[in-house]
Amino acid sequence: MRKFEKSKKLDYVCYDIRGPVMDEANRMIAQGVEILKLNIGNPAPFGFRAPEELLKKMNDNLVNTEGYSDSRGLLSAREAIVKYCRKKGIYEVGTDDVYTGNGVSELITLSMQGLLDSGDEILVPSPDYPLWTASVTLAGGKAVHYICDETADWYPDINDIKSKITERTKGIVVINPNNPTGTLYSKELLEEIVTLCRENGLIIFADEIYDRLVLDGLTHTSIASLAPDLLTITFNGLSKSHLIAGYRCGWMSLCGDKSFARGYVEGINLLSSMRLCSNVPAQSVIGTALEMEEETKQLLVPGGRIYEQREYIYEALNQIPGISATKPKAAFYVFPKIDTKRFGIHNDEKFVLDFLREKKILLTHGGGFHWEKPDHFRVVYLPEMEQLKSACCRLSDFLTYYRQE
Ligand code: PLP
Repeated sequence: MRKFEKSKKLDYVCYDIRGPVMDEANRMIAQGVEILKLNIGNPAPFGFRAPEELLKKMNDNLVNTEGYSDSRGLLSAREAIVKYCRKKGIYEVGTDDVYTGNGVSELITLSMQGLLDSGDEILVPSPDYPLWTASVTLAGGKAVHYICDETADWYPDINDIKSKITERTKGIVVINPNNPTGTLYSKELLEEIVTLCRENGLIIFADEIYDRLVLDGLTHTSIASLAPDLLTITFNGLSKSHLIAGYRCGWMSLCGDKSFARGYVEGINLLSSMRLCSNVPAQSVIGTALEMEEETKQLLVPGGRIYEQREYIYEALNQIPGISATKPKAAFYVFPKIDTKRFGIHNDEKFVLDFLREKKILLTHGGGFHWEKPDHFRVVYLPEMEQLKSACCRLSDFLTYYRQE
């Protein structure tokens, strides 16, 4: 009898959706235990509702969107995306350079599959959004992690990036605003990254899915706007800004110099046609969504849910002895540090597992984001304030007695 094993590459897919913590959470849920999930950036279960106008638009369009679309996406959707790019200072992009996808997730995987040969390297941040490392690995490449420095507001360490560029490096992933740290990068920092890419002929993979979820009146700069001469692929979508993660609506736009990357673009076109097209009803609301700014902004200003919850979680976590957190400026994540000496922690996954079993709260350990030291975990601060308060109380209590064996 022939035996089929799981691909070895899958072992490297260290992802916050799998592993012993998720297995335990699922087991507990099956037994009827109520678990507070602070592990996933999915707004809908926490009472966030998509704008009515958007839902109406999708509903109205259902009959017109029954068939496949062009494999890149509806022209009207791509025109709206090009318009949005221009608004963000990205001019070197036309409708043929835009690809819609079933969420950004699908396009991350596609962009890596189209590019990488065995052993090719992609620079990926540590901590990362783990799908990036997984996609590089599954495409046969090697994710080389560059350090983001907590003592410098979680900014990427430029010298570390420099030291990791080799002959095999094809590109760099820049996640801004960042998941899991909630950091927003300055224009100056992005310019430094662009200079490095220019000097070394790197493609920039700019994951900007949180660009409309910026707090404190700050402004997001698209890295592609600083690098019109470089091939930059910018990823964005409606899962977070328009609270419709379940509708699977994302896109990527290729801008800058594509002359040296004809084969790669051909590969992207081929892979894009192979999956026929992305969800067409979801594409049909992109134009409307990108014209709606107020609904999202209301969540981000004082009195708005994301703003108030960020204020609370930042203060509350920092009040717990042994925990310190950098204030997030965007998205809805915070990546606190835990004093490993104080609690004898040598395994962050075990810490999160013990906390889950004891206090029925699901966090993600730092290792899930390819953070090497066992001294961080991520909190999604989407749940209602009362739930966040309860979570912080339970964490504070847990840490009064927790010591790892
Ligand atoms: N990129 C980042 C940084 C994310 O945090 C996420 C989802 O959490 C995604 C991409 C995937 O988003 P989508 O729902 O568009 O697949």
